[in-house]
Amino acid sequence: MTALPRGGRPAEALAAVEASIEDRWRLFLAEYGVSPGTTEETDLAESVVDDTSVFEWRIVDAAYDRLTCADCGSHLGSGPVGCDKCDQADGFRFAAIETDRPATPPGTEHGLRVATAVARARHRHGARARCGFELGLPLLLGGQLPGTAQAQAYRAAIDKLTEEECERVTSFEEIPGISSRRVR
Ligand SMILES: [Zn+2]
Repeated sequence: MTALPRGGRPAEALAAVEASIEDRWRLFLAEYGVSPGTTEETDLAESVVDDTSVFEWRIVDAAYDRLTCADCGSHLGSGPVGCDKCDQADGFRFAAIETDRPATPPGTEHGLRVATAVARARHRHGARARCGFELGLPLLLGGQLPGTAQAQAYRAAIDKLTEEECERVTSFEEIPGISSRRVR
């Protein structure tokens, strides 16, 4: 599990999404009659990453978690930017199937999986990108997809923060209070 340094609702949301990833993987193993912790589990994970486009994104993310990058030693797809194997795997991650939940705007599930990927491999992203995606996690998990104007407003607000403030803030609502303290 990833402990999100900023805490608050983004950390709670990430924990909930990670639990859903693990739940889905357990179900997937059961469907294939495979026990956790066996070489069969590793083989199954390998077969998932061979063609990510035919599996749900939670299964794909769980499979990557169970494989180690031969070049950098991180979980596959989660190594430093510039590790070719991880960069490629991280790209294929996004070919996975995303099914919007009932009564949520189309694209919400895509937003959730992207925000989850960013929050789980934060070193692969800049402080501002991290901030936007991580603050968005609780909204997306709750089935809300910010529209274009709202997303632009969030981005503009984040731009007013220093990188240190970006790391500390735990909700979009806090941003005006934090950034207004600065002499501009
Ligand atoms: Zn790597």
